[in-house]
Amino acid sequence: MPAKIYLVSACLLGINSRYDGGDNRSEKVLEFLKGRHAVPVCPEQLGGLPTPRRPAEICGGGGKEVLEGGAAVRCPDGTDVTEAFIRGAEQVLRIARLTGAREAILKSGSPSCGRGWIKDGSFTGSRRRGDGVTAALLLAKGCTIYDENSLPED
Ligand code: SF4
Repeated sequence: MPAKIYLVSACLLGINSRYDGGDNRSEKVLEFLKGRHAVPVCPEQLGGLPTPRRPAEICGGGGKEVLEGGAAVRCPDGTDVTEAFIRGAEQVLRIARLTGAREAILKSGSPSCGRGWIKDGSFTGSRRRGDGVTAALLLAKGCTIYDENSLPED
């Protein structure tokens, strides 16, 4: 059986892809990936956004609603960056298909990568249930998604 390949949020690996130019390095993730195959991805960069870039949150829903056209991703000043977020999600899906990855370890809470909860669009730190745009697309295509707080057990 071919080795499992994990797509991984680049920022969790210490890559400076985060909106403010920093990272979300996770020693737990790095430890888990020792001896495993990982493909780093940053959907926001793949969608064409610069680093650093303005923060963004999903307004009016979660990633699923963004993909369905019922919610938007916005910066604090209201600028609509939905298109870049969708483009990034599609590029990550393409990478998943090219590499055969069916599992991903993504950064919790992100409007792209979050799974289960995201910020609520108020830029106050409040949360709502839902997934980021990339997480929602990968889930819809049958991928399994973990985050830095809930890693695979195998
Ligand atoms: Fe990390 Fe995902 Fe945000 Fe990129 S889009 S910086 S990979 S959480």
